[in-house]
Amino acid sequence: MIKDNLSQILKELPSDVNLVAVSKFHPVEAIVEAFEAGQRIFAESRPQEFEKKVKWLQENAPEILRDAEFQFIGHLQTNKLKMVLPYVSLVQSIDSMHLLDAVDKWGKDNGKMIDVLLEMHLGAEDTKQGFHEEEILDMLFSREFRNIRIRGLMGMATNTDDEQTIDADFSRIDTFMAYCKDLFPEMEAFDQLSIGMSDDWRIAIKHGATMVRIGTAIFGARNY
Ligand SMILES: *Cc1c(COP(=O)(O)O)cnc(C)c1O
Repeated sequence: MIKDNLSQILKELPSDVNLVAVSKFHPVEAIVEAFEAGQRIFAESRPQEFEKKVKWLQENAPEILRDAEFQFIGHLQTNKLKMVLPYVSLVQSIDSMHLLDAVDKWGKDNGKMIDVLLEMHLGAEDTKQGFHEEEILDMLFSREFRNIRIRGLMGMATNTDDEQTIDADFSRIDTFMAYCKDLFPEMEAFDQLSIGMSDDWRIAIKHGATMVRIGTAIFGARNY
């Protein structure tokens, strides 16, 4: 039961950590069910799927679009921005300079300020997307964006059962986040650390997570 899963997690989650319900690959009815149980923050990872769900909600449950917020956590191609950006409060998965520039331009053209997180490369896997520390520092030093607000960092730990490895990954991003805050005190909105998923969110909250992104533990296994 989605409702029971949510309340189980919320019982343990510190009240200052936001629960982001990852509804990707689940039917829109799962969003409705979670909304009715009180959940207000959702995240999707595929533009087409997200767009379909938005259309359905516009027609069938506009109160959910009005009262809940949606975030984007997947790989975003610059030719798909218009499917995503009008409907989200946060893009967590900025993984290239090119994308950042395109989002800034889209914001300018559409008169919207867009909150984003920079995705930091954390895990051992080569395939994981994201910036390395030097790239993030470079960007924060050298760039100014008019229609983007960089709200913080997002990271995914190595996909492993080994808690020490996960702990080390989260420790690294937590430490780097603190370093950036010290270095750029004028970036007052830079205060969000998005780490932790179904299997490792308890470790993430020990490392300063301000939001956890949980799919499976709320909605069950995904049908790919
Ligand atoms: C799918 C996904 C999640 C949720 O993963 P679960 O293990 O199902 O909780 C979190 N973050 C990102 C970036 C994802 O793509």
